[in-house]
Amino acid sequence: MGTLTEGFDEPSIEAVIIARPTKSLALLIQMCGRGLRLFPGKEDCWLLDFGDNFQRLGKIDQKRSISLCPSPKRGESDSKECPSCHAFINKFLRICPECGYVFPPGSEEEQEALKDNFLPEFGELLDEEQTAKITYIRAQRKARFTKKLNPDDLWELWSLRYQDDILCNDWLYGAIFRGDRSTYAQQRFLSYLYSFNPNLTSWVVFHMELEFGHPRHVYESKFKGRYFLPPVSHEQLNWWYVLQVDSEATEEEVKTAYLSLAANKEKDEIKLLNWAYEEFLHYKISPPFAENLNSEPVVQNEVFLWSQVIQAVSPPTTKALLSNKGRLISLKGNYAQIEISSPPLIRLIQQKISRIEDAFYQVLGQKITVQITAPIKK
Ligand SMILES: [Zn+2]
Repeated sequence: MGTLTEGFDEPSIEAVIIARPTKSLALLIQMCGRGLRLFPGKEDCWLLDFGDNFQRLGKIDQKRSISLCPSPKRGESDSKECPSCHAFINKFLRICPECGYVFPPGSEEEQEALKDNFLPEFGELLDEEQTAKITYIRAQRKARFTKKLNPDDLWELWSLRYQDDILCNDWLYGAIFRGDRSTYAQQRFLSYLYSFNPNLTSWVVFHMELEFGHPRHVYESKFKGRYFLPPVSHEQLNWWYVLQVDSEATEEEVKTAYLSLAANKEKDEIKLLNWAYEEFLHYKISPPFAENLNSEPVVQNEVFLWSQVIQAVSPPTTKALLSNKGRLISLKGNYAQIEISSPPLIRLIQQKISRIEDAFYQVLGQKITVQITAPIKK
């Protein structure tokens, strides 16, 4: 065990069997390196991994940013496995570059956002009770966003709970994106805000400032003479501008553009592309979707189809949730849109999306991409 990991030099090797797991990326690369020497007549080398190393640490030819000041907290994988072709790809990609599989929306970004409870310095000393209040209202602020609820309920919630205590707007800074002020974060938040109120710019600016605006610590660095605040925008970008395609582009063209732009990009840039792709899907679905709003939910045979899909869904809990709270509101091409009448359940059902897609496949024999939506407010 472990004898031919490094330094062993036999360039004609055409296959490397990695029969052990390692936590060390450096060691993994060294082990693979045994087979990567050039040799006349040698075309390629098989890397057989029996320790799930590529899954944990990523492929060895993947681009990585390496810090000059190594941080001790490392070792988390930057890759995920494509369920369709089993390639290991950058975990933020929405579309698999190897086979074109489209991942369900949001998962990586949301998991990342859940990781810590970002509480910035507000330039005041807070006791335990105040900290608990602030933590509560920030969590509620974030929940409005993730559950697609109206952001204005927040002040009502606060006064119901804390009566005459004043909610200071600064406390809400970064509650949703934890201080991430990237174009991705801003555009994602704008899409959410505009879905409630497409006309009131001042209202949008107010909420943008709350999330990305002027926290106390920015004022403080101003006094130290290093004042720099990246701009907060309230203008929505067009998905076709971000993806550099025509607004009439076909799905194939959009996928190709996404993959060529996403190649070797940093996380934030890929996330912005993900947002644009999401907008594209929404845009593609929304015309027929809008027609359905005021009419009968769906035509009769779609009701029948939906009942068959529900029958095909497992496990039983998901089946029950869908039959009580779910409704097929449109099925156009390969896209089905499912409305969940109870917003708190949306996240839960979102995690079961592949089960619903499997059920569609069983019923229709066709790959369907499912989108879950909240009920539309009138
Ligand atoms: Zn794939």
